[in-house]
Amino acid sequence: MYKIGITGGIGSGKTTVCKVFEVLGIPVFYADTEAKNIMIKDAELIEGVKSTFGKNSYFDDGILNNKHIAAIVFNSEIELAKLNALVHPAVFRAFDAWANEVKNNVPYTLKEAALLFESDSYKMCDTSILVTAPMETKINRVIQRDNVSTEQVKARMSKQMTDEDKAKMAEHFIVNDEEHSIIKQVLSLHKHFLQLASKVQT
Ligand code: ATP
Repeated sequence: MYKIGITGGIGSGKTTVCKVFEVLGIPVFYADTEAKNIMIKDAELIEGVKSTFGKNSYFDDGILNNKHIAAIVFNSEIELAKLNALVHPAVFRAFDAWANEVKNNVPYTLKEAALLFESDSYKMCDTSILVTAPMETKINRVIQRDNVSTEQVKARMSKQMTDEDKAKMAEHFIVNDEEHSIIKQVLSLHKHFLQLASKVQT
């Protein structure tokens, strides 16, 4: 199965672009959403979180104690790295299981991940797409969507790789600014991926 990783900075519009691929019948694995699901579903991950961050990482009913975890990892790169080392392999397992389930009848799949390059998960994909937009556009979109301040958006952005660095690692690009149509760009890439996928399958 041909697998394509898709990423972009916060507010670049990667989820919006994925929705266009979905309209074309391409299934999308949303890694960031899935990461939240598996925190309360994946037994191996839950055990790892409890033994690393304490039993009170979860409430008695199995709900994740977000405040507890956030307080530990928020200001510590080391603790955040420990959490990522637990979560990323669990997301890889979930992606594998998902891809196995959907692999029949679809030419290729997409894996949407904000940290596609940072988490090394692009290595599980055959190719990658980077969605870009001007900084000001990204900031304005997130302010409107999440009702947050410019400073809060910039703080979130500072935790991600820059577009410039991501561009060095990506193979395909979608420009999601005010001037370019994402539909046209998705259709053109879709055609290209169908050809690549058919070569892999034959
Ligand atoms: P995040 O990493 O924060 O999840 P994202 O890259 O997935 O962000 P989206 O959620 O797709 O970005 O888009 C951010 C916001 O900008 C959304 O409210 C979306 O509707 C809007 N948006 C995205 N692309 C466009 C566009 N081309 N025109 C207008 N609005 C857009």
